[in-house]
Amino acid sequence: MSKRRRLVVANWKMYGRLTSGLVLARDIAEKAEAARPLNFDVVLCPPATLTWACSDALMGTPVMLGGQDCHTATHGAYTGDISAAMFADLGCRFVIVGHSERRHGHGEPSELIAQKVEAAQLAGLTAILCVGETAAELESGSASEIIEKQLKDSLPQNVKMANLVVAYEPVWAIGTGQQPSPEDVAAVHRTIRKALGEIGPSVRVLYGGSVNPGNAGALLAQEEIDGVLVGSASLNADGFWAIAEKCQ
Ligand code: PEP
Repeated sequence: MSKRRRLVVANWKMYGRLTSGLVLARDIAEKAEAARPLNFDVVLCPPATLTWACSDALMGTPVMLGGQDCHTATHGAYTGDISAAMFADLGCRFVIVGHSERRHGHGEPSELIAQKVEAAQLAGLTAILCVGETAAELESGSASEIIEKQLKDSLPQNVKMANLVVAYEPVWAIGTGQQPSPEDVAAVHRTIRKALGEIGPSVRVLYGGSVNPGNAGALLAQEEIDGVLVGSASLNADGFWAIAEKCQ
């Protein structure tokens, strides 16, 4: 069992319309309500268009809300972007930053992600910082160095460890059905915690990448794994809750 309170995060990515997203949020909240008191945390990160509606639907339930990405500035002439403060206004307590779909799909470097972590924390949000190696980096044997460098370069100088969660998400495991073994994940988590230094012990380190109800139990049997970040399997309330229950 992990030493920290476990956390399960749903990343809906660009899925969910107003009706379907609300039904899903309500179904998950209902399951969380029925399981009260929870001894783990649950966060939903819907597409930005659903944040306000989900905020209303989740109010008073144990399920917390998060954004999927944020801009580095509080406001400004940035067409299409959303600031961390805007997410906070809508009741968010978390925001994902540095997801591989941002790092690789949008060419975001770690230095920019560090600014996003800082912006998130300044807005009072907890940053869920994603790091992870590509298949080529894994094959070249450089995964550990890559992850440590990504982590160090993605943390602002004045990072608040209390408002930080790190998610280890191997790029080759996201949406592919492939995964490292639970023991390999645990070893990477130890590397991450060591790289975080003396305040590392308070930071929750999650795993993400093709987590489903069938493999979540084995992952969460590792005490180093403080929870999971779930993509596609979070789009089904029963499946997501079956994963969440493994956090107990
Ligand atoms: C993710 O989007 O962070 C993720 C882990 O996706 P999936 O669970 O679908 O692999």
